[in-house]
Amino acid sequence: MDDLDKFCCQNKKCPQYGVRGEKNIRVRDDYGPNNTRLLYCLVCKKQPVLRPNNFSERRGTVFFGSRLPEETVVSILEHVVEGTGMRKTGRLLNVDPDTVSRYTRLAGEHAEQLHDELVMNGVLMSRRF
Ligand SMILES: [Zn+2]
Repeated sequence: MDDLDKFCCQNKKCPQYGVRGEKNIRVRDDYGPNNTRLLYCLVCKKQPVLRPNNFSERRGTVFFGSRLPEETVVSILEHVVEGTGMRKTGRLLNVDPDTVSRYTRLAGEHAEQLHDELVMNGVLMSRRF
């Protein structure tokens, strides 16, 4: 599977909005300390009326706009998943407990969106009540 197949157009007016694996996503550039890729949609590019936007490959994820190193964010979430409290995780990783709370909340929101998308696409069966 092409790595870019994980991404989809972020423009709600585009017919390919939210659709993955259609080979319409391309890399424009990369930027920042983590070499985050700036992506764009070929379908939007061919139809200027759609007002195409470049978007970060991290958009919609816990890493978007993060100033912490990626390894630290992952480590925060690993600690929380293992049941380590917010304050304890903050002390172990030398970050503010509020930062731990914020990333935990962001990861939860992302997981919820992902869950809903997988259910919508029939990949997962919903167990929500
Ligand atoms: Zn598009």
